Amino acid sequence: MPTYSIDLDKIYTQTLHAEWLHQRKVLLDVLRLDQLHEVVSGNKWFKLKYYLQDALLSGATSAATFGGAYSNHIVAFSYACKQAGIKSTGIIRGEEPSSLNDSLKDAKNAGMELHFTDRSSYHNREAIKKQFSNIYWVDEGGYGKPGAKGAAEILSFAPGKEKYTHIVCAVGTGTMMAGLIKSAGIHQHITGISSMKNNHTLTSQVKSLLEPHEQQKSFSVMHDFHFGGYAKHPPGLLQFMNEIWLQQLLPTDIVYTAKTLYGIKQLILNNTIPSGSSVLMIHSGGLQGNRSLPVNTLLF
Ligand SMILES: *Cc1c(COP(=O)(O)O)cnc(C)c1O
Repeated sequence: MPTYSIDLDKIYTQTLHAEWLHQRKVLLDVLRLDQLHEVVSGNKWFKLKYYLQDALLSGATSAATFGGAYSNHIVAFSYACKQAGIKSTGIIRGEEPSSLNDSLKDAKNAGMELHFTDRSSYHNREAIKKQFSNIYWVDEGGYGKPGAKGAAEILSFAPGKEKYTHIVCAVGTGTMMAGLIKSAGIHQHITGISSMKNNHTLTSQVKSLLEPHEQQKSFSVMHDFHFGGYAKHPPGLLQFMNEIWLQQLLPTDIVYTAKTLYGIKQLILNNTIPSGSSVLMIHSGGLQGNRSLPVNTLLF
């Protein structure tokens, strides 16, 4: 039986040890939000918190959202609704498959009603929403201010968070990054590693979740570590994931966190993150998505 509760006490920071860190005198700690739950992604839990609170306060008994067939957001949403005691609906991009993948099976087992929608109708959000009444809607990926407000609580789980000069996270919608910017100190730089190729609207997406004074803080989005595009995972990335596992016992996911850690390494080696820095990487979870790989691709 899967459990539908999460345990915030399971979060901890892991210090990495490697020659490329030692050489540059860089401290790299990883905030293990992936430890929250075996299926629900760490950051999704934080991002969904205020949406669910809002749904419950507004008296909703049912909530719905959008996502792809392997989406961490869809799975997390189904669990979070189950835990909150409300019905969940997922609008899934693409035709109904002959058999459900692990992510969708999990969502369905958590009680989510799945609606498959072909790619062109999927983008017509208003037309879809009209087909349902009395339902609380959350945007794809949990993008929005309540999501950023929840993500702003992430840093309070990093002991001694003031010591970090750089905080680095993966970027999908930019909601988590916005939350980190909100809660970071003015001496800290927030770097977001985009999981997509050439998505240059991300910076403005992040900004629109911030108040004017927060927009003045120090942050940047990097676009060089997508490995070919969203969810693309060439052999070089898989090899890096296995190396990191063997050297650090740190599991990463193919869509977000492996690319983030790879990016951090390059930014340290090319001195964008200067020698002597203290870096906190947010491990935002997502490990459930690795189940889409053929067995034995990963060593963990
Ligand atoms: C969804 C997700 C992200 C992206 O978060 P955004 O707030 O959409 O930028 C990053 N990492 C993991 C593991 C995720 O599941």
